[in-house]
Amino acid sequence: WVGNMTENGKKISIAIDGPSGAGKSTISDKIASEFGFLHLDTGALYRAVGLAVYREGVDPHDADGVRKVAETINVTAMHTPNGQKTLLNGEDVSREIRQNVISGYASAVSALPLVREKLLGIQRQIALNNNVLVDGRDIGTVVLPFADIKIYLTASVESRAQRRYEELILRGEHPDYDTICSEIQARDIADSTREIAPLKCAEDATVLDTSGLSFEDGYALVKNTITERLEKCFIQ
Ligand code: C5P
Repeated sequence: WVGNMTENGKKISIAIDGPSGAGKSTISDKIASEFGFLHLDTGALYRAVGLAVYREGVDPHDADGVRKVAETINVTAMHTPNGQKTLLNGEDVSREIRQNVISGYASAVSALPLVREKLLGIQRQIALNNNVLVDGRDIGTVVLPFADIKIYLTASVESRAQRRYEELILRGEHPDYDTICSEIQARDIADSTREIAPLKCAEDATVLDTSGLSFEDGYALVKNTITERLEKCFIQ
């Protein structure tokens, strides 16, 4: 029935914003593939810029240094049946951008207007041409303020840190829970207090809290909310 809703050619856009570790990406991925929507993970684009800055040995808080790197790189996302591939100057960096060290770089570079402007057009272009589920921090407020459905997905710091911890263990890393907790808190503060496009809940977003929920329960919560809203919006 999603196909029927788009017969008039209008693309559907769903925005999912929220702090890191609330489950946005994994939940969005599964829902998008079930609904036949394209899932755009916008955090991956900021991570790719962060990776470029990291590789150049530039301090991510050095605005001039970051600007120089950002001006010369090409970042984009390619969507395949296996999900999003994030490209930095044509190179697939999808795996490398997931390193823990790149999270801090992404957060720092995302505070710079030049970086945000560079990535805004790419995000809107992808959303214009597809039925999309876009996840990030400023999707419902800045990137797609007219999104058909807006969700703000959140969870307590502890529960997000626990998830990140388990994720890193599965990846063979040796994380420290307390360090992850402080990193998440620091990123929350940086993301929500930056001057441009801070992390904040859009006025017309539905707030969902996944604290203490398993992936399956969090996923069901988001999926049911989206399904209900789609039915209301598109089926009279
Ligand atoms: O979502 P993820 O944790 O991969 O994002 C990495 C960083 O990119 C975030 O900490 C945030 O600073 C930044 N970001 C952003 N706006 C978005 C998506 C991510 O500023 N729409």
